[in-house]
Amino acid sequence: EKPRILDDEEGGVLFFSGTPSSSSGFRYSSIEKQRQRLPVYKYRTAILYLVETHATTIIVGETGSGKTTQIPQYLKEAGWADGGRVIACTQPRRLAVQAVASRVAEEMGVKLGEEVGYTIRFEDLTKPDVTVVKFLTDGVLLREMMDDPLLTKYSAIMIDEAHERSISTDILLGLLKKIQRRRPELRLIISSATIEAKLISAFFQTRKRRGLENEELGLQLEPAILSVEGRGFNVQINYAEEPVPDYVQAAVSTVLLIHEKESWGDILVFLTGQDDIDIAVQLLNEEAQTNGKNTSGLIVMPLYSGLPRAEQELVFSPTPRGKRKVVISTNIAETSLTLEGVVYVVDSGFSKQKFYNPTSDIENLVVAPISRASARQRAGRAGRVRPGKCYRLYTEEYFLNKMPAEGIPEIQRSNLVSCVIQLKALGIDNILGFDWPASPSPEAMIRALEVLYSLGVLDDDAKLTSPAGFQVAEIPLDPLISKMILASNQFGCSEEIITIAAVLSIQSIWISGRGIQKDFDNAKLRFAAAEGDHVTFLNVYKGFLQSGKSSQWCHRNHVNYHAMKKVIEIREQLKRIAQRIGISLKSCDGDMQVIRKAVTAGFFANACRLEAFSHNGMYKTIRGSQEVYIHPSSVLFRVNPKWVIYHSLVSTDRQYMRNVISIDPSWLLEAAPHFYNLQRLKPITH
Ligand code: ADP
Ligand code: MG
Repeated sequence: EKPRILDDEEGGVLFFSGTPSSSSGFRYSSIEKQRQRLPVYKYRTAILYLVETHATTIIVGETGSGKTTQIPQYLKEAGWADGGRVIACTQPRRLAVQAVASRVAEEMGVKLGEEVGYTIRFEDLTKPDVTVVKFLTDGVLLREMMDDPLLTKYSAIMIDEAHERSISTDILLGLLKKIQRRRPELRLIISSATIEAKLISAFFQTRKRRGLENEELGLQLEPAILSVEGRGFNVQINYAEEPVPDYVQAAVSTVLLIHEKESWGDILVFLTGQDDIDIAVQLLNEEAQTNGKNTSGLIVMPLYSGLPRAEQELVFSPTPRGKRKVVISTNIAETSLTLEGVVYVVDSGFSKQKFYNPTSDIENLVVAPISRASARQRAGRAGRVRPGKCYRLYTEEYFLNKMPAEGIPEIQRSNLVSCVIQLKALGIDNILGFDWPASPSPEAMIRALEVLYSLGVLDDDAKLTSPAGFQVAEIPLDPLISKMILASNQFGCSEEIITIAAVLSIQSIWISGRGIQKDFDNAKLRFAAAEGDHVTFLNVYKGFLQSGKSSQWCHRNHVNYHAMKKVIEIREQLKRIAQRIGISLKSCDGDMQVIRKAVTAGFFANACRLEAFSHNGMYKTIRGSQEVYIHPSSVLFRVNPKWVIYHSLVSTDRQYMRNVISIDPSWLLEAAPHFYNLQRLKPITH
C-alpha cells in the first residue's frame, strides 16, 4: 500500500492550511508551486486579457481547478486593486466564504482581515482602505447595494458558483447587468461549474441584440466565455442493487466496507444536514465499540454550515500517515469546497432543498432528491488525486429514469417576501418586469406583495412605506423578524425580542443526538416556558448570562456553547442596527403577553389552530388549511395549545412546525386586519 504522503510526481510537497507553518520562505515557495499546478494557472494570461477587454467574462471550469482561490489573486496581481479599488468575490454559502478567504490570505501570506478579508451576515472581517480582495456572500453584496447602488468601490466583481442559482445570485445577476450600463468600467466575472453555464451566458448575451459596443473604452460588451479544462481522473460508479430503506445507515455501512476492502484514500460522504450528519458520525464512532468493526485508522469529521471555525479547518488538514479521513458533508462539498485526497465518494442522492407552494403560501425545507447534474458533480469529487470510486446509494434505474436532469433555480421555489422588499428598497418597482435570469412565478409574487402589504411594509401603490417599510428593509433579517423587532418597540419589549431574533437566526441552540434524547428532554424542561419556544430561548439566554457565559454550564444543559456565543454577537449587532433606525431598547420585565404580541405582529401569517377533534395534535394553517404538527423538538410538543404561531416548517413524513409560540386569536386581527378579515376567523373561533 502506498504510504499516505502527499508527494506528487514532481516531488513537491502539497501544502495544506492547518499544518503548523514552517519557516516562511519554504512555505512561500511551496505555495507558489502549488498555485502553478492548478489547471486555471495555464489560463492566467487569457483570463486577464478577457477581463481587460470584456465587460463580462464567464469562466466555466471543473470544480477544484482553482477558479475561486486564484482568479481574485490574478486580478490583484494585474492591478485591479490599485488606487483604492476593491476586488469582490461572492459565494452563495457562508462557510465557503470563510474557508476560501482564509485560504487566499494564507496563499498571499497576509493576515486574514487585512488585505484579504470576508464579510458574511453578522461577521465582517474586512478593514476599510486595507482590504483589497474581499470575499462575501451574494446576500451581503446585495445588501451593500442599499448604501451604494452602483457598488462604486469595486473594480471587479466575481460572481462565483453561479450554477448554484441561489436566489441572491439571480437577483445580483439582474442588477449587475443594469449597473454595467451605468458603470462600463466595472468588470464582471461569472464563474460556474460545468452545469448551468449555457443559460447564464445566454442571459448576458441578450445585450447582443442591441449591438452595443463601447468604442471609446475599446470594451466588448458581449460576454467572453472561457472554459478551463480540468484534469479529473476517471471515477468508477457503483449503484445500489436495490433501493436502500435508510440512507444514513447505508452510508455508514458503505464507509465501513470501503475502509475494509479498498486501498488508501479519503472518503467523502454526501448527506443532507446537520441532523443526519451528526447521526452518521455517531454511528461510525459507535461501530468500533459495539460491533467490533475495524474502524481503526478512520478519522470521522462532519462538514456543514454552522460548524465552528476550528472544526472547519480540521477538515482541510492533511490526513496523517496510515489514517483514512471520512468527511460527512452537506452538498457544500459538491462544488463550493474541494478537499484534497478524496478517492471515494458516497452519495446519498439527497440534499435539503427549499420548496414553496404559493397556493398554500407554505415554504419548507425538504430532504429531496438531487439532480443528475448534481450526482455527476458529486461523483467527480472522487477523481481528484487519482482514479476514484463513487458509491451511489440508489439504483441505476432510478438515476436514469427518475432523477430530474437539472435542479430548479431557488427563486422559483422560494417565498419571495425578502426578495421583493430588497428590490423595492433598491428602487426597482416593476418586479415582474425585472430582467431575471429565470422568472419567479406571478402567484408567488402576488403572495409576497400581499404579506408585505399586511405587514405595513408596502402601501396601496406597492411602494415601501415610510418609515416602517424602510426600517424593515434596513434590518438584514427575514422581513417577518424585522417587523417583529419594529413592533417590539411599541410593545416595550425590544430587549427580549432582539434576543429572540438572534436565536431564531441561527440553526439551533441545542445539542441533541441519538441516545441522549432523554437527558436532552430533561435539560430542555429546565428552561421550558408554557408560552412556547421563543420564551424558552429567553430563559436559556438568561441562564447562560448568569453562568458567566460558561461552557460547562452549556455542556450540562445540552446547550450549544458556540451557538450561544454567536447569539451574543448577533444580538450586539442587532442592538446597533435597532438603535440606528430609532428603536430604543426596553425590557418588558417578564410581561410575556407583550412578547407574544410582538411575535404575532411579525408572524401572523404563520398562525395555526389545533383541529377540534384531533387526537394526534394535528393543526391547520389558518390561511391555507394545511395540515401541520408541532415538531418534537419544541417545548410545546404534546402540549398542543389551541392557537399557535410557528417560525418555520420542516417536512419529513409530515409538515412540522419548528419554534412555536401560543397566541390568542384576537391578536391576529389586531396585527393584520386585512390579512385576517372577520370572515376568515369567525367560523373557526366558534
Ligand atoms: P474551484 O473554485 O475551481 O473549485 P478552488 O480555487 O476552490 O477551485 O480550489 C483550488 C485548490 O485550493 C484546491 O486544490 C483546494 O483543495 C484548495 N483549497 C481551497 N480552499 C482551501 C482551504 N481552505 N484549505 C486548503 N486548501 C484549500
Ligand atoms: Mg470554487
